[in-house]
Amino acid sequence: MFYLGCHLSASKGFLHMAKEAVSIGANTFQFFTRNPRGFAAKDIDEKDIAAFLEYTEENGFGKILAHAPYTLNPSSADEKVRDLALRIMQDDMLRMEYVPGNLYNFHPGSHVGQGAEKGIELTAELLNTILTPEQSTIVLLETMSGKGSEIGRSFEELREIIDKTNLSEKVGVCLDTCHVYDAGYDIVGNLDGVLDEFDRIIGLDKLYAIHMNDSKNPFESHKDRHEKIGDGSIGLEAMKNIINNPRLKHLPVFLETPNELDGYKAEIELLRENREG
Ligand code: FE
Ligand code: FE
Ligand code: ZN
Repeated sequence: MFYLGCHLSASKGFLHMAKEAVSIGANTFQFFTRNPRGFAAKDIDEKDIAAFLEYTEENGFGKILAHAPYTLNPSSADEKVRDLALRIMQDDMLRMEYVPGNLYNFHPGSHVGQGAEKGIELTAELLNTILTPEQSTIVLLETMSGKGSEIGRSFEELREIIDKTNLSEKVGVCLDTCHVYDAGYDIVGNLDGVLDEFDRIIGLDKLYAIHMNDSKNPFESHKDRHEKIGDGSIGLEAMKNIINNPRLKHLPVFLETPNELDGYKAEIELLRENREG
């Protein structure tokens, strides 16, 4: 099964997102848990959730992916900023249990001059506070492009965060194609080499999801500007290789390309046409 979706607006609830996904040929989706600016989250609507669970079951959905507000910084030097990330993510963990067994992605943060080591420690500390043995959600560290002082720019840094996390079985990785290419992993010229490296350093069993985005910038630019599939420096051929790679084929793929719904629909069609088997 090819679980493919895109980022959708959560403003009209879970059932609405699932129906919107189906209308564009998707069988999963990503959404923000709350407004990335004001941090407001919708009240949990148990009727909406029950209808969503039934609808996604009937329609054979894969795991959905929640995305934490990208404005949070779990590795900030400022305790107040870290505390905000902690409280928001802790609340997100509780909310995620209404749709059990799914995925929650976040940006490991920016160390803002403290050094990557310190940033890694602070992010692991946050995970050690919010993760519980009872939770069914797997929390994913997103691979970052390394713009500014971002941590998570290398497989080694992600591995270190996981190593410092007590409940590491609740932690995984989401590979963003734009970010890793910008970070200097050549998924265009040497996808298998990159996957070997991922496997050696983190372990491919820790890879739970793919963010599929082309990049507006060249290899190793550390910029993080997403482009439509096929229109950027990564290109359609590389995307075809990714969705058909035997080591990646089981993973859900989420588009975060600069598109409205009709653009996403066209990209989903394009990728499904190019999927083998
Ligand atoms: Fe992200
Ligand atoms: Fe991403
Ligand atoms: Zn990005």
